[in-house]
Amino acid sequence: MVLRNFYAGAAVDRAAHRRRDANWLRARLFHPATRLVPVWRNQNLVMPGTEVTLGTIDPRDFPDAADLPVVVWLGTYGNRDYFAIDLSHVDEPTSHPAVPDTGRFEDLRRVGPVMRHDQGALAAYARGLTYWHERHRFCGVCGSPTRSDSGGHSRTCTSPTCGAQHFPRTDPAVIVLVHDGGDRIVLGRTGRFLPGMYSVLAGFVEPGESLEDTVRREIAEEVSVQVTDIQYHSSQPWPFPSSLMVGFFARAATFDVQPDLDELEVARWYSRDELLASPEDETFRLPRRDSIARRLVDDWLRDGAG
Ligand SMILES: [Zn+2]
Repeated sequence: MVLRNFYAGAAVDRAAHRRRDANWLRARLFHPATRLVPVWRNQNLVMPGTEVTLGTIDPRDFPDAADLPVVVWLGTYGNRDYFAIDLSHVDEPTSHPAVPDTGRFEDLRRVGPVMRHDQGALAAYARGLTYWHERHRFCGVCGSPTRSDSGGHSRTCTSPTCGAQHFPRTDPAVIVLVHDGGDRIVLGRTGRFLPGMYSVLAGFVEPGESLEDTVRREIAEEVSVQVTDIQYHSSQPWPFPSSLMVGFFARAATFDVQPDLDELEVARWYSRDELLASPEDETFRLPRRDSIARRLVDDWLRDGAG
Protein backbone atom coordinates (compact mmCIF):
# COMPACT_ATOMS: atom_id res chain seq x y z
CA MET A 1 0.00 0.00 0.00
CA VAL A 2 1.26 3.45 -0.91
CA LEU A 3 0.66 5.80 1.98
CA ARG A 4 0.13 9.44 1.17
CA ASN A 5 1.77 12.17 3.14
CA PHE A 6 -0.55 14.31 5.23
CA TYR A 7 -1.74 17.49 3.43
CA ALA A 8 -0.73 15.99 0.06
CA GLY A 9 -2.97 14.56 -2.63
CA ALA A 10 -5.79 17.11 -2.37
CA ALA A 11 -8.28 15.43 -4.64
CA VAL A 12 -9.84 18.69 -5.84
CA ASP A 13 -9.83 19.22 -9.59
CA ARG A 14 -7.99 22.54 -9.85
CA ALA A 15 -9.08 22.98 -13.51
CA ALA A 16 -6.82 25.99 -13.99
CA HIS A 17 -8.54 27.03 -17.23
CA ARG A 18 -11.62 27.97 -15.17
CA ARG A 19 -9.71 30.54 -13.14
CA ARG A 20 -10.00 33.21 -15.83
CA ASP A 21 -13.73 32.73 -16.36
CA ALA A 22 -15.13 35.38 -13.99
CA ASN A 23 -18.76 34.72 -14.89
CA TRP A 24 -18.43 31.00 -14.30
CA LEU A 25 -16.64 31.59 -10.98
CA ARG A 26 -19.31 34.03 -9.79
CA ALA A 27 -22.06 31.57 -10.64
CA ARG A 28 -20.24 28.78 -8.81
CA LEU A 29 -19.64 30.98 -5.76
CA PHE A 30 -23.39 31.17 -5.17
CA HIS A 31 -24.32 27.67 -6.28
CA PRO A 32 -26.17 25.82 -3.49
CA ALA A 33 -23.80 22.84 -3.70
CA THR A 34 -20.74 25.08 -3.22
CA ARG A 35 -19.01 25.28 0.13
CA LEU A 36 -16.84 28.07 1.51
CA VAL A 37 -13.70 27.09 3.45
CA PRO A 38 -13.02 29.92 5.90
CA VAL A 39 -9.58 30.79 7.25
CA TRP A 40 -9.15 33.23 10.11
CA ARG A 41 -5.68 34.57 10.90
CA ASN A 42 -4.05 31.36 9.58
CA GLN A 43 -6.46 29.13 11.47
CA ASN A 44 -8.92 26.75 9.84
CA LEU A 45 -12.55 26.23 10.84
CA VAL A 46 -13.09 22.75 12.26
CA MET A 47 -16.06 20.99 13.76
CA PRO A 48 -15.38 19.03 16.93
CA GLY A 49 -16.84 15.57 17.34
CA THR A 50 -15.75 11.97 17.55
CA GLU A 51 -13.54 12.88 14.61
CA VAL A 52 -12.51 16.45 13.83
CA THR A 53 -13.93 17.52 10.47
CA LEU A 54 -13.30 20.53 8.27
CA GLY A 55 -15.84 23.29 8.85
CA THR A 56 -17.45 24.82 5.77
CA ILE A 57 -20.09 27.47 5.10
CA ASP A 58 -23.09 27.22 2.78
CA PRO A 59 -22.82 30.25 0.46
CA ARG A 60 -26.55 30.90 0.89
CA ASP A 61 -25.70 31.84 4.49
CA PHE A 62 -23.05 34.32 3.29
CA PRO A 63 -24.65 36.52 0.61
CA ASP A 64 -21.86 39.12 0.65
CA ALA A 65 -19.05 36.56 0.24
CA ALA A 66 -18.11 38.04 -3.15
CA ASP A 67 -17.20 41.32 -1.43
CA LEU A 68 -14.53 39.76 0.78
CA PRO A 69 -11.01 40.85 -0.14
CA VAL A 70 -9.79 37.27 -0.50
CA VAL A 71 -11.97 34.67 -2.21
CA VAL A 72 -10.04 31.81 -3.83
CA TRP A 73 -11.60 29.16 -5.98
CA LEU A 74 -9.88 25.98 -4.80
CA GLY A 75 -11.51 23.62 -7.29
CA THR A 76 -14.16 20.95 -7.65
CA TYR A 77 -14.33 17.90 -5.41
CA GLY A 78 -17.13 15.40 -5.77
CA ASN A 79 -20.12 17.44 -6.88
CA ARG A 80 -19.09 20.57 -5.02
CA ASP A 81 -16.92 23.59 -5.68
CA TYR A 82 -14.82 24.87 -2.81
CA PHE A 83 -13.79 28.47 -2.26
CA ALA A 84 -11.36 29.62 0.44
CA ILE A 85 -12.39 32.87 2.13
CA ASP A 86 -10.37 34.94 4.59
CA LEU A 87 -12.26 36.21 7.65
CA SER A 88 -9.21 37.74 9.34
CA HIS A 89 -10.81 41.21 9.39
CA VAL A 90 -13.45 39.92 11.85
CA ASP A 91 -12.43 40.06 15.52
CA GLU A 92 -14.73 37.27 16.73
CA PRO A 93 -15.16 34.95 13.75
CA THR A 94 -17.21 32.33 15.56
CA SER A 95 -19.88 34.95 16.26
CA HIS A 96 -20.16 35.75 12.54
CA PRO A 97 -23.72 34.76 11.53
CA ALA A 98 -22.52 32.53 8.69
CA VAL A 99 -20.11 30.49 10.84
CA PRO A 100 -21.67 27.36 12.37
CA ASP A 101 -22.24 27.79 16.13
CA THR A 102 -20.31 24.69 17.11
CA GLY A 103 -17.29 25.40 14.92
CA ARG A 104 -13.97 26.70 16.15
CA PHE A 105 -10.86 28.04 14.49
CA GLU A 106 -7.73 25.99 15.10
CA ASP A 107 -4.14 25.89 13.93
CA LEU A 108 -4.04 23.05 11.39
CA ARG A 109 -0.85 21.79 13.03
CA ARG A 110 -2.94 20.98 16.12
CA VAL A 111 -5.80 19.18 14.39
CA GLY A 112 -4.36 17.97 11.06
CA PRO A 113 -3.09 14.66 12.45
CA VAL A 114 -6.62 13.63 13.50
CA MET A 115 -8.44 14.81 10.38
CA ARG A 116 -9.27 12.80 7.28
CA HIS A 117 -6.47 13.17 4.71
CA ASP A 118 -8.68 14.78 2.06
CA GLN A 119 -10.06 17.35 4.49
CA GLY A 120 -6.62 18.11 5.90
CA ALA A 121 -5.32 18.62 2.36
CA LEU A 122 -8.14 21.02 1.54
CA ALA A 123 -7.52 22.93 4.78
CA ALA A 124 -3.80 23.15 4.00
CA TYR A 125 -4.50 24.39 0.47
CA ALA A 126 -6.89 27.09 1.78
CA ARG A 127 -4.48 28.15 4.50
CA GLY A 128 -1.51 28.35 2.13
CA LEU A 129 -3.32 30.58 -0.35
CA THR A 130 -4.92 32.94 2.18
CA TYR A 131 -1.52 33.38 3.83
CA TRP A 132 0.03 34.27 0.47
CA HIS A 133 -2.68 36.86 -0.24
CA GLU A 134 -2.21 38.43 3.19
CA ARG A 135 1.53 38.82 2.56
CA HIS A 136 1.27 40.16 -1.02
CA ARG A 137 -1.16 43.05 -0.79
CA PHE A 138 1.49 45.37 -2.24
CA CYS A 139 3.55 45.02 -5.37
CA GLY A 140 7.13 43.89 -4.78
CA VAL A 141 8.24 45.84 -7.86
CA CYS A 142 6.73 49.32 -7.31
CA GLY A 143 4.96 49.21 -3.92
CA SER A 144 1.44 49.93 -5.26
CA PRO A 145 -1.54 47.92 -3.98
CA THR A 146 -2.28 44.64 -5.76
CA ARG A 147 -5.64 43.04 -6.46
CA SER A 148 -6.63 39.39 -6.55
CA ASP A 149 -7.04 37.86 -10.01
CA SER A 150 -7.62 34.51 -11.69
CA GLY A 151 -10.01 33.21 -9.09
CA GLY A 152 -7.49 34.11 -6.38
CA HIS A 153 -4.51 32.37 -8.02
CA SER A 154 -2.57 35.51 -8.84
CA ARG A 155 -2.37 39.16 -7.82
CA THR A 156 -1.91 42.04 -10.24
CA CYS A 157 -0.34 45.39 -9.45
CA THR A 158 -2.93 48.18 -9.76
CA SER A 159 -0.42 50.76 -11.03
CA PRO A 160 -1.09 51.29 -14.76
CA THR A 161 2.61 51.88 -15.40
CA CYS A 162 3.61 48.64 -13.63
CA GLY A 163 0.89 45.99 -13.79
CA ALA A 164 3.26 43.26 -12.54
CA GLN A 165 1.66 39.89 -11.91
CA HIS A 166 2.49 37.97 -8.76
CA PHE A 167 1.91 34.25 -8.24
CA PRO A 168 1.63 32.15 -5.08
CA ARG A 169 5.04 30.98 -3.97
CA THR A 170 6.18 27.74 -2.49
CA ASP A 171 9.56 27.49 -0.75
CA PRO A 172 11.26 24.13 -1.30
CA ALA A 173 13.14 22.55 1.57
CA VAL A 174 14.89 19.20 1.73
CA ILE A 175 14.34 16.80 4.60
CA VAL A 176 16.82 13.97 4.82
CA LEU A 177 17.03 10.66 6.62
CA VAL A 178 20.77 9.98 6.89
CA HIS A 179 21.48 6.27 7.41
CA ASP A 180 24.68 4.27 7.71
CA GLY A 181 23.65 1.56 5.24
CA GLY A 182 22.85 -0.62 8.23
CA ASP A 183 21.03 -0.22 11.48
CA ARG A 184 21.44 3.44 12.40
CA ILE A 185 20.14 6.87 11.37
CA VAL A 186 21.02 10.41 12.44
CA LEU A 187 18.44 12.36 14.44
CA GLY A 188 18.78 15.76 16.05
CA ARG A 189 16.70 18.36 17.82
CA THR A 190 16.40 22.13 17.92
CA GLY A 191 15.05 24.23 20.76
CA ARG A 192 11.89 24.85 18.72
CA PHE A 193 10.81 21.20 18.92
CA LEU A 194 8.37 19.71 21.41
CA PRO A 195 10.17 18.49 24.54
CA GLY A 196 11.85 15.15 23.80
CA MET A 197 11.23 15.24 20.06
CA TYR A 198 14.04 14.23 17.71
CA SER A 199 13.84 14.39 13.95
CA VAL A 200 15.69 13.97 10.69
CA LEU A 201 17.58 16.97 9.30
CA ALA A 202 16.10 19.65 7.05
CA GLY A 203 16.95 22.92 5.36
CA PHE A 204 15.80 25.34 2.68
CA VAL A 205 16.99 25.19 -0.89
CA GLU A 206 19.07 28.21 -1.84
CA PRO A 207 19.22 29.90 -5.25
CA GLY A 208 21.63 28.13 -7.57
CA GLU A 209 21.30 24.75 -5.85
CA SER A 210 19.84 21.48 -7.06
CA LEU A 211 17.94 19.50 -4.44
CA GLU A 212 20.89 17.08 -4.22
CA ASP A 213 23.27 20.02 -3.68
CA THR A 214 21.09 21.18 -0.80
CA VAL A 215 21.06 17.71 0.74
CA ARG A 216 24.87 17.53 0.67
CA ARG A 217 25.31 21.10 1.98
CA GLU A 218 22.72 20.90 4.76
CA ILE A 219 23.99 17.60 6.16
CA ALA A 220 27.59 18.81 6.02
CA GLU A 221 26.65 22.09 7.73
CA GLU A 222 24.39 20.65 10.40
CA VAL A 223 26.29 17.54 11.46
CA SER A 224 29.60 17.57 9.49
CA VAL A 225 28.71 14.32 7.74
CA GLN A 226 29.39 13.72 4.04
CA VAL A 227 26.58 11.82 2.29
CA THR A 228 26.26 9.79 -0.90
CA ASP A 229 23.62 7.62 -2.59
CA ILE A 230 20.93 10.34 -2.31
CA GLN A 231 17.52 8.81 -3.05
CA TYR A 232 14.25 10.71 -3.48
CA HIS A 233 11.48 9.41 -1.21
CA SER A 234 8.35 11.61 -1.45
CA SER A 235 7.27 15.20 -0.86
CA GLN A 236 4.76 17.03 1.29
CA PRO A 237 3.10 20.43 1.14
CA TRP A 238 3.80 22.10 4.48
CA PRO A 239 1.88 25.38 4.46
CA PHE A 240 3.28 26.57 7.82
CA PRO A 241 3.56 28.98 6.18
CA SER A 242 4.60 28.08 2.61
CA SER A 243 7.04 25.19 2.29
CA LEU A 244 7.26 22.13 0.12
CA MET A 245 9.19 19.46 1.99
CA VAL A 246 11.14 17.21 -0.40
CA GLY A 247 12.13 14.01 1.35
CA PHE A 248 15.31 11.99 0.73
CA PHE A 249 17.26 9.07 2.10
CA ALA A 250 21.05 9.57 1.99
CA ARG A 251 23.84 7.21 3.04
CA ALA A 252 26.61 8.53 5.22
CA ALA A 253 30.11 8.32 3.78
CA THR A 254 31.62 9.67 7.02
CA PHE A 255 30.35 8.72 10.44
CA ASP A 256 31.53 11.28 12.99
CA VAL A 257 28.43 13.37 13.85
CA GLN A 258 29.37 16.89 14.97
CA PRO A 259 26.22 19.02 15.41
CA ASP A 260 26.39 22.70 14.56
CA LEU A 261 25.34 24.06 17.93
CA ASP A 262 23.99 27.27 16.38
CA GLU A 263 21.30 25.17 14.69
CA LEU A 264 20.95 22.01 16.78
CA GLU A 265 20.95 21.32 20.50
CA VAL A 266 22.10 17.77 19.88
CA ALA A 267 22.41 15.20 17.09
CA ARG A 268 23.73 11.66 17.05
CA TRP A 269 23.29 8.19 15.61
CA TYR A 270 20.25 6.25 16.81
CA SER A 271 19.85 2.50 16.38
CA ARG A 272 16.73 0.80 15.13
CA ASP A 273 16.22 -0.76 18.57
CA GLU A 274 16.34 2.64 20.28
CA LEU A 275 13.71 4.02 17.92
CA LEU A 276 11.43 1.00 18.25
CA ALA A 277 11.62 1.39 22.03
CA SER A 278 10.71 5.09 21.90
CA PRO A 279 8.63 5.96 24.97
CA GLU A 280 7.00 8.84 23.02
CA ASP A 281 7.22 11.17 25.97
CA GLU A 282 9.30 14.10 27.15
CA THR A 283 12.42 11.96 27.40
CA PHE A 284 12.26 10.84 23.76
CA ARG A 285 9.72 10.96 20.99
CA LEU A 286 9.67 10.58 17.22
CA PRO A 287 8.52 13.39 14.86
CA ARG A 288 4.86 14.42 14.79
CA ARG A 289 2.56 11.98 12.99
CA ASP A 290 1.46 14.32 10.22
CA SER A 291 5.04 15.15 9.13
CA ILE A 292 7.04 13.68 6.30
CA ALA A 293 9.84 13.35 8.86
CA ARG A 294 7.80 10.70 10.64
CA ARG A 295 7.01 8.99 7.38
CA LEU A 296 10.72 8.79 6.50
CA VAL A 297 11.51 7.27 9.90
CA ASP A 298 8.57 4.85 9.82
CA ASP A 299 9.40 3.70 6.30
CA TRP A 300 13.04 3.17 7.22
CA LEU A 301 12.05 1.20 10.34
CA ARG A 302 9.77 -0.99 8.22
CA ASP A 303 11.80 -1.42 5.03
CA GLY A 304 15.33 -0.16 5.71
CA ALA A 305 16.97 2.13 3.20
CA GLY A 306 15.58 0.12 0.27
ZN1 LIG B 1 3.77 47.32 -9.34
